[in-house]
Amino acid sequence: MGLKHQAPRGTRDLLPDELPRWQWAEARARGVLAHYGYREIRTPVFEDYELFARTSGEASDIVSKEMYRFKDLGDRDLALRPEFTAGVMRAYLEHSLSGQGRVHRLWSMGPVFRYGRPQKGRYRQFAQLNAELIGSPTPGADVEVIALFVDLFEAWGFTNLTVAVNSLGTPATRRAYGDALRRWLEPVRTELSADSQQRLVTNPMRVLDTKDPKDQEKMHALASAMPRMIDTLDEAGRAHWNGVLEGLTALGIAHEVDHGLVRGLDYYTHTAFEVHDRSLGAQSALGGGGRYDGLIEMLGGPATPGVGFAIGLDRALLVLEERGWAPPAAAGGVYVVAMEATRTLALSLARELRREFAVELDLDARAFGAQMKAAGKSGAHWALILGEDEVKRGEVTLKDLTTGGQTTFPRAQLVATLRAGAPATAERPR
Ligand code: AMP
Repeated sequence: MGLKHQAPRGTRDLLPDELPRWQWAEARARGVLAHYGYREIRTPVFEDYELFARTSGEASDIVSKEMYRFKDLGDRDLALRPEFTAGVMRAYLEHSLSGQGRVHRLWSMGPVFRYGRPQKGRYRQFAQLNAELIGSPTPGADVEVIALFVDLFEAWGFTNLTVAVNSLGTPATRRAYGDALRRWLEPVRTELSADSQQRLVTNPMRVLDTKDPKDQEKMHALASAMPRMIDTLDEAGRAHWNGVLEGLTALGIAHEVDHGLVRGLDYYTHTAFEVHDRSLGAQSALGGGGRYDGLIEMLGGPATPGVGFAIGLDRALLVLEERGWAPPAAAGGVYVVAMEATRTLALSLARELRREFAVELDLDARAFGAQMKAAGKSGAHWALILGEDEVKRGEVTLKDLTTGGQTTFPRAQLVATLRAGAPATAERPR
């Protein structure tokens, strides 16, 4: 019989066996973010379409090809978020956060949506961890954000990350760079894809970001002789760039300058960075970010600098999975083993104990042997055996499944005994 429904193309179900890894990664990330003083913000999964069109740029792939845009029943023009920053900045302005302190450190985690061609490590719904540092124009802010990025990955067990960095300058220097690039690519223009030729007219820098494999090859071959963005920076831009490089070196963060790095969105200024894990093949970017000093003004707010990043959680977790990494097994709690006559007691005892401990029990009135076997497999630390005779005497038996030792004692002492000996709840992996 064919199934009537499957998950929509490009989406996937995360099943209970996979989720401990996600929960572990999320918990570790929350710890790192808290130590850096970042506070969580949750914005809607959909926003006005116009918000994304304005900030990401109409010509960006995200807006022109990948947006989940829809009309609701009230005829509003909406879109599922393809990234976090625009929504976070909208909320920042809408709630006048700028009036509540000069610098804001914010983070968000959740699903984002892009209509791309699905493949390994590339989905239409995927999860991002996003962080923003709003209000500081200094290179130190860029360095902090990059350090946070690296420290998140280190907390997940990654080592030897290298951060690729570039400076995109200001809109004015970028225009000058675009002109230089257009002139420089003129001799090979007709060899480029139609898409790149079009970009060369509308937004030449986007050519560096081409997804066309032949164009990519060509760009790669030309890379060493191509005009470099950092050569077109103005004085302030150059000072900022040098400050960022010095800061990264001082913190011992491995980095390399990638002159072709442009990022996919139009709102970036100055610093742009990206981190790749080559073991992922074509979809190798683990995350990236940069400075977006003009963005808040673009949304009608006061000129406010900002810098941030987005990490692709699906890819980070894919790498951990491929390396065979699993979170430490949660130390188990109690497995209740009941007889026919003690089944009702089992239900009420389980409910009582679940206020404090992780408790499993068999609802199917299986034989004692089958229940003990299930208890052994469950990962529980204790089997709580409710034998008929013991229960009549007001007693219970606790078997330590890790050592095999067991004791029988008054039921009134059960909670105190578990508190003294058993882990209070399924322990969080450290
Ligand atoms: P971006 O802001 O486009 O650089 O996205 C940030 C990160 O999100 C990327 O580096 C990827 O790790 C991840 N990402 C982007 N698009 C997808 C996708 N379609 N599926 C899975 N992860 C993605």
